[in-house]
Amino acid sequence: MISRRKTRKVIVGDDRVGRVGIGGDAPVSVQTMTAGYTYDIDACVGEIHKLAAAGADMVRLAVPERKDTEALHQILPQVTVPVVADVHFHFQRALEAIDAGVHKIRLNPGNITDRAQVLKVIDACKERGVPIRVGVNEGSIVERKDKHKRLKELGGVFSENKNGHLLAIMIAKLEEYLEIFEQRDFRDVVISAKSIDPVLVIDAYAEISKRFDYPLHLGVTHAGPRETGSIRSVVPLGHLLATGIGDTIRISYASDPVYEVHDGLELLYILGLRQRIGAELIACPTCGRIQVDLFTLVQDVRKALASEITLPIKVAVMGCVVNGPGECEGADVAIFAGDRRGIIYVQGEKVANVPEEQILPVLLAECKKFEQKVQRGEAKLGEKKVDILPPEPIGVIGSGWEKVQREKATSLPVVR
Ligand code: SF4
Repeated sequence: MISRRKTRKVIVGDDRVGRVGIGGDAPVSVQTMTAGYTYDIDACVGEIHKLAAAGADMVRLAVPERKDTEALHQILPQVTVPVVADVHFHFQRALEAIDAGVHKIRLNPGNITDRAQVLKVIDACKERGVPIRVGVNEGSIVERKDKHKRLKELGGVFSENKNGHLLAIMIAKLEEYLEIFEQRDFRDVVISAKSIDPVLVIDAYAEISKRFDYPLHLGVTHAGPRETGSIRSVVPLGHLLATGIGDTIRISYASDPVYEVHDGLELLYILGLRQRIGAELIACPTCGRIQVDLFTLVQDVRKALASEITLPIKVAVMGCVVNGPGECEGADVAIFAGDRRGIIYVQGEKVANVPEEQILPVLLAECKKFEQKVQRGEAKLGEKKVDILPPEPIGVIGSGWEKVQREKATSLPVVR
């Protein structure tokens, strides 16, 4: 069980879309950002609905132009999750978004150079109870003109760290920004300190968490497409979350943002930071012992579970008898394959032995039946009634499979 760092709590939302807590005792939330133009109202609303349906707790929109903040007047009444306006350079966009009723502002005080303008945004947010995320992303905090001077001034503070000079600048910038907010006694602040470098992300948030008690928005900037960006994002975010740091996350991909939500939620589920919604799928990677088309089967099972199962039922799909029984034992519903057949278990009890083409429908039917039993209070998730043992002796890896083959996979023993 991960013990989370104590922070202040910020509330995002209203009566209509609901309220999402960030920090304090609130569960870690998942957010993402639309990929389309905000002024394209119908498409924007459609994208927000899609991301909310995928599980996003809040959705951010870019508002670079007046037509984007004007569109918010029509977008906001149609959506069902809190919306965050992403503001760069133009403080007026923030004021317009607040006026339209946006639920949170993302601001980079580093690119709004006039302090009076930042104060205007803070005052408007204070009046409407709108929180602000203050971002000190690596790319935007180092002022190009006095970069070398700043590095010289601050670099010594973290001299032992490879990223010491950047950490020093991030911390110094944050102190400078937060002073502006605190000058107005405005504490509804969330902090982010993103970078493309995963090690810098870990170091920056670890340092910031020691120094400030504001909730933290974790993320890696410009992580790339999902294929490589997932590793770049999940390693630092997983590390920080596992050490109790982080109150809301955004995984950012150069891909459909719906994957940001899926992967963010999965990260929180596997760390035990959120109660899983829907089935948990376990599957073997396959090897030379495989006896069914497991890759296709796993994808078909994944899609079917995602659309048809709402309880966190643990489902295992295993390719053969070698590791199949062991994994099946820990699952609520499981199948292990042999000789182009599937042997299906529900909480340790064998319920079916079917040819390969029937594995998917029978497995899904068993999952639904089991879900209904849990809903009626006749079964409990995670309980097992019997141990599933492989054929004995398993001996050399693969000998179990020989036995499956010999017996045509019809009579694998279940030891009660
Ligand atoms: Fe290979 Fe069987 Fe393990 Fe799957 S369960 S990886 S097929 S040994």
